[in-house]
Amino acid sequence: MRPQHNLVELPAGKTLADVLPVFKNVEDERHIGMPTPVCAGCRKPFTAVRKRRKAFRLYPVDICQAAPVAFAYSLCGRCWSHYQAGGDRKEALMASIDAFSDGSEATQ
Ligand SMILES: [Zn+2]
Repeated sequence: MRPQHNLVELPAGKTLADVLPVFKNVEDERHIGMPTPVCAGCRKPFTAVRKRRKAFRLYPVDICQAAPVAFAYSLCGRCWSHYQAGGDRKEALMASIDAFSDGSEATQ
């Protein structure tokens, strides 16, 4: 059974503005807040050894009807490799990121 999550990937060949027109005229971005001190995939803290390797962005569709908003979460190299591996490992990672976004504990 595949892990469950509510994340939808941008379809191949589509831009963010194709799917969320509110981003059509966005030319710049402002970052609010600080990056999380832990990986959104495994919840382990970033250190000199476990570094931030990739930022994973979630676009809340309901909020993006009114304003272009994204939430960025950092991933460690191990979790990023799970995304790149595809299949069940990627699905598990996406479920973990979805839960992290909701404030839930890690399940993997
Ligand atoms: Zn991780």
